[in-house]
This record gives sequence, C-alpha cells and structure tokens, in this order.
Amino acid sequence: MDSRIKHWIRPAMANLKPYTSARDEYGESREDMIFLDANENPFDSGMNRYPDPLQRELKERIASWRNVAPERILLGNGSDEVLDLLFRLFCVPEQDRVVVLPPTYGMYSVLAAINSVETVAIPLDAEFHPNVSGILECNSDRTKMVFVCSPNNPTANLMPRESIIELLEGFDGIVVVDEAYIDFTDEDSLTELLDQYANLVVVQTFSKAMGLAGIRLGMLFAREEVIGYLNAIKPPYNVNGLTQKAALEALDELKLKSEQVSILKTERARLAEALEEIACVQEVLPSAANFILARVDDADNLYQYLIGQGIVVRNRSKQLNCENTLRFTVGTPEENKALVAALKARKS
Ligand SMILES: *Cc1c(COP(=O)(O)O)cnc(C)c1O
Repeated sequence: MDSRIKHWIRPAMANLKPYTSARDEYGESREDMIFLDANENPFDSGMNRYPDPLQRELKERIASWRNVAPERILLGNGSDEVLDLLFRLFCVPEQDRVVVLPPTYGMYSVLAAINSVETVAIPLDAEFHPNVSGILECNSDRTKMVFVCSPNNPTANLMPRESIIELLEGFDGIVVVDEAYIDFTDEDSLTELLDQYANLVVVQTFSKAMGLAGIRLGMLFAREEVIGYLNAIKPPYNVNGLTQKAALEALDELKLKSEQVSILKTERARLAEALEEIACVQEVLPSAANFILARVDDADNLYQYLIGQGIVVRNRSKQLNCENTLRFTVGTPEENKALVAALKARKS
C-alpha cells in the first residue's frame, strides 16, 4: 500500500460505505440457485438478471489480453465514465485543480468543469511534447491530476516515454495516461509501469481499435488500492449486460481486430502520402493513431467544401496551436479514396 494515495484522495471518499447490491451479499452463485433477492422478472430473456457489478468474467479476459491483474482493472460506461470517476475520487469541488496539456482531448476540461474543478493549462511544446518542468511547477497539495494523452488527440503523436516517467517521479499527484489509440502504435502500454509507480493511471477503450464505440466500454488500469476506492464510488451496474456480452465476443475475435488495425495502419500511410500531394495541404503531421492532422490553406472553407461532397471531417482550427487544421479519421480503403478524390477535384 502506498500512503501517498490516501493523501491524494478526497477525504469524503476515503471512508465511503458503498451501496451493496443484492447479489454482492451472496458471493459465488451456483447454477441451481433460486434468486428471489433482487426483484427481477424471473422469466428468462437472457437479460432479465442484473449484470455482475464487478464484471468478473470480462475482467479475467481483459487481464490476460492486456497482461494486467484483474484487481488492477476498473471498467466503465466508456472512458468518459472512468475519467469522471477519477475526478470524483481525487478532487474536492471548488478547491482542487488538474493540469491539462493543450491541444488535447476536450473531455478532461469538460469533466473538470462539471465537477467544479479548476484546470490549469500547460501547453504542449512546439513538437507537441509535454513541458515537464512547466507541469512540475504546478505541484501543490491542491493539484491532484495531470492528463497526458498518448498518442495525443488531435495531434496524433506519441508522448516521449522519458517525459511521462519524469512526471511519474516528480508530479505530486495522479498521472493519467490516456491510451485510447495505443493499438495503432508500435509502443508498449505504460501499464507495465504499474508495479513501479503508485500514481500511474492508464485509460484505454473499446471504442477505437476494438471497433465497439457503440457499446460504451472504457478500461482503467491502476494499483489495486486505487481500484478499490473507485469500485466503492462507481454506480453498481455501470457496465450493462449487453455490453459485457459484446465485449466478450469481441475478445474471441482478436485476430480479426488486429487484421483491421493493420489495414488501418497501411491506409494511414497511404492517406498521409496522398495528402502531401494536395495543393492546399501545407503540412501533414506524423501519426501514431487512426487519424491524421493536416495544416491546410483555409480550414473553414475546405471543411465546408468536404461537407458539400458528403464527407465529414473534424475542423480542429480553434484548438491551441492548431490554426487551419483538419483532422481526418482513417476510413476504409474506399472511403479514403473518396476523400482524396474529393480533395483533388477541388478548384482552389
Ligand atoms: C476517442 C477517445 C476516447 C474514447 O472515449 P470513450 O468514452 O471510451 O468512447 C478516450 N480518449 C481519447 C483521447 C479519445 O480520443
């Protein structure tokens, strides 16, 4: 146990008595038991029972897939929910603050605002890498978390591992590493550092490489002490039965998923090359994710033109240091061809 964790968490959460669901009290269930404890409809529909609040079967499977012990896993209704639970566990509203590194994923500051937590922005440097010394200057009893997105959305680059390690060693709070796009990189997940750093939290998702954005399943990996607190504050049935079932099925199809990822990596390289040839594209940023950020002559105009062609991309121009950028998700080979054809056909 690391006493620093106790020091960071919100005092009101430390001694919380969680709601115990009917089936929690009983523990191991046997096939032949009669369940008259939870006021369910007894007629079998496949989904008439409450789901396992701790998703034990699914966590066992994720544990062997990701090589992290099941006690170090929290699952939630998308990454959105697991990130929100971190705010609730660590941050006292109207008092604590968190550090974000713009340009980055917008949900961190949205969740901070919803939880009445102040955000301090320490911009990424010219290479879109973390300004480690700037972040460490934010150390204080009130600064509870820093959010590092790697690969970063929308810039698509990986953050240097040495920088994250410097943060894990020097930041007096939780370092949240969002690895939503880790499967599109050639790097290992930082989950392998959980033994070394009690303040490391890694977040991943079923929404991107696993192709299941519709089921809403987020994963959080942390030391068992942190997971214990998070389990105590999460809504008891936060991952529904249909989601657990769909995730288990997807884990039987990992070969298919990795084939899709390798197609997308090939397509990413092709699309980047094709974008380089387009007259109005000034710069194509290198990507370790399943999207490409490109600097163009006039992003608003090009965005509208593409809408007219029936193609929706993301205009990221309002983000810090992303003036005149569009973010292109890598689609199927046919979709990418259509995008490139539309860009080539545009009269400037
Ligand atoms: C897409 C994305 C997620 C995934 O969010 P879900 O709620 O799990 O769908 C998380 N983080 C980043 C940076 C993303 O771009």
